[in-house]
Order: sequence, then C-alpha cells, then structure tokens
Amino acid sequence: MRKAIGAVDIGGTRTRVGIFRDGRLVARTSFATKGLPEVVEALRRLLVRGKAEPVAIGVGAPAPLDMRRGVILNCPNLPHWNGVAVVEELSREFGCEVYLANDATTAAIGELEFGHRARDFVYITWSTGIGGGIVSGGRVVWGMEGQAGEVGHMVIHPQGPHCRCGKRGCLEAIASGTGIARAARELFARRLTAATVVGRARDGDPTARRIVARACEAMGQGIGILWEIFEPEMIVLGGGLTRSWDYLGPMVLSAAREFARTPPRVELTPLGDDVGLYGASALHRHIEYFA
Ligand SMILES: [Zn+2]
Repeated sequence: MRKAIGAVDIGGTRTRVGIFRDGRLVARTSFATKGLPEVVEALRRLLVRGKAEPVAIGVGAPAPLDMRRGVILNCPNLPHWNGVAVVEELSREFGCEVYLANDATTAAIGELEFGHRARDFVYITWSTGIGGGIVSGGRVVWGMEGQAGEVGHMVIHPQGPHCRCGKRGCLEAIASGTGIARAARELFARRLTAATVVGRARDGDPTARRIVARACEAMGQGIGILWEIFEPEMIVLGGGLTRSWDYLGPMVLSAAREFARTPPRVELTPLGDDVGLYGASALHRHIEYFA
C-alpha cells in the first residue's frame, strides 16, 4: 500500500475529493454536495483505485465550524452537514489523523503551498459567498478559534442590504453571487443567477451594469482596506466570479486604488477550482494547534 493524503473540499454546491502523493494531486472527483456518506465513499473509491492508504485527511468546509471539536456547526447552505463531527467520523472510518478548517482559509493554504507561494497575502473567495484567509510571514492567521479572515463580513455600506449574518452592508451582502442575484431579483423582479447578471451587464443592459458596478466597487473597497491593513505582497482571488475577471477586474482594481495609498497587486489563483483541494492536502502542516 502506498501512503497518500486525502483531501476534501465541501462547497455550497459541489464537493471535491482528491488523493495526493508526494505533494501531487494524483486522483480527484467531484459531485453535487450531499453528506458524509458520499464523501466516505468517494475517498474510499479513490484510495482503492490508487492502492493507497491515507496518512492524513484534510477537510475544508464553509464556516461556522468548531475547530477544536472538528464539528461543522449550523450551516444554512449545508443541511446534510449540520452538527456532523467530521474529524471523529472520518478518523474512525479511515484510521488516520483528520483536520478540519474553514474553506477559505484552506484555499489560502493551497495558495501558500502550491499557488503563487507568497509569504504575505490575503486570499479572497469571490463566489456564492465571500470568504477569506490571511497568511502573514508564511503563517496562517487563525485567530482565537480559527475563524479569522472573514473578509466577507466587513461592513462596506452601513445602510446597505441585510446580510445573512444579521448585519447590514457586508461585502458579502453586496458583492457575492448571492448578493448580486438578490439585487437582480429586486430590480428585474425575476430570478437571475449572478453569472446571468454579469452576462447582461457585458451586453450593455444598464440595470445589470449598475448591479455589477456596485458589486465591483464594494469588492475593490474591501481589497483596498485589506491592502492597507496587512501590507501584503498580493491579494489573491479565487472562486466562480473570477471566471469573469476580464470584465470585472478593471472595475474592481479602479475601486481598490481609491481605497489604498499604493495600487494593490491583485492576482487570480493559478489553481482554479482545485485551490481548496490543494489546501486540504496541506492542512496537517498548518493546524497542529487546533488538532
Ligand atoms: Zn455579514
């Protein structure tokens, strides 16, 4: 049996599972997010096929988490995972160490070890929600309970739209895929995905343009603020909305420059949709403290 590391990235819509050997992703699969049994089965299948046994498993999952107990807490987008003791269940199933962390922090670890490998950066997931992870001097900033880096809940406009966290005008409420879709529902009086709204803006629809410009300005403001606080080498973005970076990027960057004294350097992760999977494979090297 060959030694391998199992990696799991649980997303709001898709779950990715992979096997790493010698720091290389050797097998992967992805499926619509369900619950723990599907993850166990996928991991098992990849391990059998690779004639491998896991020495560690890393799991990235949307907050909120109890990192000390390795439990996914009440997460509105993941009904199958509410209260699931991921670390305990997977340890019992596979007989190895298991590590659980916030998905955006996990993605930041992927960037740190396999992406641009900057030592000082802030990683931002710009997707259905907005999450973040901070790396300073090559080390992950975890905070007291491992929940640091929630950049999506920076308040950008105190009178802005209500956020699911209970506050108003959070970056996530304005600029996330959900925020864009909600603004579209109010202004177009129909359901449109964020990708459709961006497409319409590209085609010149003035209402869509207004919604998208507002989202990009908010994202730029957030980036400018983070740039001033952390003086990072770069801000790294990933997530579904960055697929439209050719269109959104110039708007984001021009807003970011208004909120920072020097122009922020913004890069997209070269790892694409697998950034969280890469990070999960390296979690064991970064969260000893919470294990
Ligand atoms: Zn919020």
